[in-house]
Amino acid sequence: MNMSSTDCIFCKVANKELQTKIIFENEDFLAFNDIKPVSPTHLLVIPKKHYKNLWEVEDKELLGKLLHTAKEVAKQEGLKDGFRTVINTGDNGGQTVYHLHVHVLGGRFHKWPPG
Ligand code: AMP
Ligand code: ZN
Repeated sequence: MNMSSTDCIFCKVANKELQTKIIFENEDFLAFNDIKPVSPTHLLVIPKKHYKNLWEVEDKELLGKLLHTAKEVAKQEGLKDGFRTVINTGDNGGQTVYHLHVHVLGGRFHKWPPG
């Protein structure tokens, strides 16, 4: 059972209940600035529909579109020198907000492996 929008901060963003500046929007997804950026560019791309995380999504078309949207966001933000995409899943993945999101990080070199 999906969490209701009233319980989820990113559903509130998606429903425009918060005064979050939307950086990019298409039919299924939104992108906005991370509240605690770790890179000069740090955006979050979310599906407007609530999914807890990758475990919960079987819709392959949506997953493909999510990654494509992350690329479009990176292009719009001028990250031509490259960027890092991150999806944290569950506690061991470091997930803190349980609404599926892709981090798009750019504007500096990102070393590998991450912590
Ligand atoms: P994760 O650890 O992958 O679940 O990432 C959650 C991210 O959401 C963190 O980088 C937080 O800084 C960010 N975050 C939490 N609340 C908000 C908010 N209201 N607006 C924008 N970013 C947020
Ligand atoms: Zn949600």
